[in-house]
Amino acid sequence: MTTPDTSRLPLSLPHPAPPPRPYDGPPREEVIALRRQFLSPGLVQYYREPLLIVDGQMQYVWDETGKQYLDGFAGIVTISVGHCHPEIVERVREQVGRLQHTTTIYLHPTIGQLAQKMAAHMPTGSGLDVSYFTNSGSEANEIAILASREHTGNVDVVSLRNSYHGGTQGAMALTAHGNWKFKSSPSHNVKNATPGYCYRCPYGLEYPSCDVRCARDIEELIRYETTGEVACFIGEPIQGVGGVVTPPPEYFQIVYDIVRRHGGLCIADEVQTGFGRTGEHFWGFENWGVTPDLVTMAKGIANGAPLGACVTRPEIAQVMANRVHFNTYGGNPISMTQGLATLEIIDKENLQENARVVGNHLRERLEELKTRHRMVGDVRGKGLMLGVELVLDKTSKTPASAATGEIMELARERGLLLGKSGLYGNVLRIKPPLCITRDDADFMADCLEETLTLVEAQS
Ligand code: PMP
Repeated sequence: MTTPDTSRLPLSLPHPAPPPRPYDGPPREEVIALRRQFLSPGLVQYYREPLLIVDGQMQYVWDETGKQYLDGFAGIVTISVGHCHPEIVERVREQVGRLQHTTTIYLHPTIGQLAQKMAAHMPTGSGLDVSYFTNSGSEANEIAILASREHTGNVDVVSLRNSYHGGTQGAMALTAHGNWKFKSSPSHNVKNATPGYCYRCPYGLEYPSCDVRCARDIEELIRYETTGEVACFIGEPIQGVGGVVTPPPEYFQIVYDIVRRHGGLCIADEVQTGFGRTGEHFWGFENWGVTPDLVTMAKGIANGAPLGACVTRPEIAQVMANRVHFNTYGGNPISMTQGLATLEIIDKENLQENARVVGNHLRERLEELKTRHRMVGDVRGKGLMLGVELVLDKTSKTPASAATGEIMELARERGLLLGKSGLYGNVLRIKPPLCITRDDADFMADCLEETLTLVEAQS
């Protein structure tokens, strides 16, 4: 067992800096009061004392008091190249001053340039050349389902239990996570298959002797619950909201093969896993050696701008011309500029490679924590999309939901923002901007070491 490295304590951020500018907005109490009175009570909020963030620079954000935080959650995985990356700020500022909006009924140069660049990032020979731009991941998934149904003439869709695909009606129907489903919102023609969640295998089996039964289950599901012909399968390569659930290596090959034998198309929801985040590959699906027929994306695509896309082959894209389909803000010049700049910076600054190297280092550090801490049940993910599942003890695997919340509070005090997810809210999500350094990764691991020690001592 490795001895904890106490030389790094007490904790301090590796790149401390004052806030970029003094905060001169309304006081925090006023911000809270406005939210309480005038915003939907459905808005979710992290932390006992809500956090007010007023500035961001690269991997860091600042609150109104000038306290600096390492952003380990990247605005829910949207900030890929860094908050307010100077090149993005400059290019978007130029675009805002020139032309903000007209819609796609007129020509604009940037939309085609971004679509071309997107096609160039798809696997060679995949034919994934045609983009439909939206404003969000939910909308991108709506387009992918619509195009699949229209193309195949089939209606039934298979998604995975524990998945999250969005909050619009259709995307909510795909989502198979009770916390996110509303009673009144129907899920017609969506069937849910078993995810590759080895830590909590629904069959109580062990990989590899299980023969990846979770993946093979789709065949039975299609045979029993559909006409035998499906429109499509949609899956996140790594389930984000579901708790960074990372299926075994054969999983998607088996699933894609079954779905295709039953007439369906395969959709990879890359909203969280795309744009180099998984390190080894630009797209999450590439880690499983499969090529989808449609790829949906959002979040990291534009470093925080509201942008989503569904990318597919020309013959599938063609069905969108069957009727009129229109998205007013989809493809707007500002989001296009930000998307194009983001993609160019990911390439220019080698951020995928950084996600691989720093992500591997962080993962090793987290694995070490698992050997020392009884509450660390599982460490999962790839590159800079990592998850730590916390349990009361490693035998019962009872979800340590309250402890997870407590660790987030303690990490915040120490200047680290983290996310959480999973059905029981017991998986810490570590998904920082792709520009973090090895020192930042060490800070995160040290911070988790300290906070875990404190929380384990209390329970
Ligand atoms: N798919 C996945 C995998 C997601 O994580 C999300 C958002 N958390 C969505 C789709 C929906 O994206 P949006 O919130 O932009 O509609």
